[in-house]
Amino acid sequence: MNIDFHCHTTESDGTLTVMELLSLAEERAVDMLSITDHDTLDAYRQIDTQNHNLRIITGIELSSQWNKRGIHIVGLNVDSESASMIEAVTQHSAARRQRAEIIAEKLAKLGFSDCLEGARDCATGGEIGRPHFAQHLVNIGAVSSIDQAFKRYLGSGKAGDIKDQWADPQTVIGWIRDAGGAAVLAHPTKYKLTRTKLIELLADFQEAGGEGLEVISGAQIPSVTRELARLCRDTGLEASAGSDFHSPNQNWAALGKVAPLPDNCKPIWQRWQ
Ligand code: AMP
Ligand code: MN
Ligand code: MN
Ligand code: MN
Repeated sequence: MNIDFHCHTTESDGTLTVMELLSLAEERAVDMLSITDHDTLDAYRQIDTQNHNLRIITGIELSSQWNKRGIHIVGLNVDSESASMIEAVTQHSAARRQRAEIIAEKLAKLGFSDCLEGARDCATGGEIGRPHFAQHLVNIGAVSSIDQAFKRYLGSGKAGDIKDQWADPQTVIGWIRDAGGAAVLAHPTKYKLTRTKLIELLADFQEAGGEGLEVISGAQIPSVTRELARLCRDTGLEASAGSDFHSPNQNWAALGKVAPLPDNCKPIWQRWQ
């Protein structure tokens, strides 16, 4: 089975439209796909999930905050029309708009004017995120790359890293469960936590009703996969896997080229097969 349960379109910070992404997934012979845009389900307004060669699981990547740290929680198999998902996307898209204004003010203080308009143009109507500010800073020649924009202005601890925007994990997991979905902790190695802290996060996550862990996120080294599989076994969390695809240029996050799960994991997709 070729599974990809984490990817993005132009509805958030991806570069392919929903239709372009679906064509690429079909070309890559993906069997089960979840489009998981940041804080929006708008992709699902454009597709009939029943009417494709591949199985589509309705998904979303919700931003959250655990003890002052930003984390991401993927909701899989959510009902996009449910009251809790409507509440989640309404609250978080308002938070994104407010945050965008604050980021633009901070960047203006550093001498970069009109960043809100610039980032909006880069977002082409989708949910606005830090990558759109990064792209704008590249476009105006303030930095030479997206990576440099994050390192200097938008990444952790920098001016454009705004805290306290997102619902806590209890709330986010509650929204996902109320929408009939399963909550999965996204890309656990991206939070730069010690093993002890990660185990603490997983305990809180599970206590709040979280059920899955992304054992594979994009291209990663086998020792990381083994360690995450072990954490699944120790905690009883089900395993998920996704590319975290944003753009065809990023070969470390290639759509539909997700490594298989180790044998000792319980794949979360067994629920929907
Ligand atoms: P946001 O959801 O607006 O806070 O933006 C977070 C997104 O920015 C992530 O989902 C990544 O797609 C992207 N991102 C985070 N850090 C970096 C980085 N150092 N370089 C490039 N993109 C990044
Ligand atoms: Mn992203
Ligand atoms: Mn993420
Ligand atoms: Mn993602």
